[in-house]
Amino acid sequence: RRGMHLEFNITLFGRNDRLIVVHDVTRLVNLEQMRKDFVANVSHELRTPLTVLSGYIETMDMQADMLPPRWGRMLSQMSQQSQRMEHLIRDLLTLSRLETAQHEPPKLVAIPGLLSSIINDAKAVSSERGHQITLSIETEYSPLGYHDELRSAFSNLVVNAVKYTPDNGHVDVRWYEQDGFVCLAVIDDGMGIADHHIPRLTERFYRADPSRNQATGGTGLGLAIVKHVLLRHDGDLVIKSQVGKGSTFCARIPLHRCRLATSECNASAA
Ligand code: ADP
Repeated sequence: RRGMHLEFNITLFGRNDRLIVVHDVTRLVNLEQMRKDFVANVSHELRTPLTVLSGYIETMDMQADMLPPRWGRMLSQMSQQSQRMEHLIRDLLTLSRLETAQHEPPKLVAIPGLLSSIINDAKAVSSERGHQITLSIETEYSPLGYHDELRSAFSNLVVNAVKYTPDNGHVDVRWYEQDGFVCLAVIDDGMGIADHHIPRLTERFYRADPSRNQATGGTGLGLAIVKHVLLRHDGDLVIKSQVGKGSTFCARIPLHRCRLATSECNASAA
């Protein structure tokens, strides 16, 4: 039947016998599609009224010195919360796009230029907190994939490392090859994460310590985005951490999705 989704499990017995179990997963697939459409539509619809509200808040903020002090404080709260909502909607739309995006032909993404630019952006934000961020490129492999998606995933990892590392901390970014993968490791000496949180960090809205994280802002969607981007590159995310010592987030892409990129190619792409 058209529109029907079936899942087949085939088990081999001896040389000639097979057990074939067929599951009708049509309802599950349709429900999942409804969820994706719902999130995409709601996020899209929320964007317009929020843009109008933010515009008014900004205009009032420009004349804040004419307002009584209590109103000024309320205005700054309103501005913070509307920014938070804008980030939330931006991340929800990014996730929706990742879930529904067609697979266009992948292109070579020159990693040295991409990582230098991500790190320059991070340094601009973190410089007043005294962080040291280093980059080492140890392999000439670059992935065949989607530039903007990889930029958003890798940038999320670097921004998190800075966000969850106290002032004057260190963040090392390494690009290297190991065990059939190329890896982007983002290593920090920050607050670390307790073991029981680690398997859940890539779930939407999961935050290891919501009260402590309140101060750092964020939507709880960053690592869900990272996971989806890596899945679209046949890769995965490996997380290791120790509370009080720091964390290593390793984004891995299999070597069969990579090509050796010459230095000229990297320079021109940068
Ligand atoms: P957000 O940073 O917006 O809360 P993420 O999905 O990017 O959401 O991260 C989920 C949670 O993982 C964070 O709330 C934080 O608790 C934890 N986390 C992520 N990166 C780090 C890191 N480098 N060090 C410590 N905790 C981290």
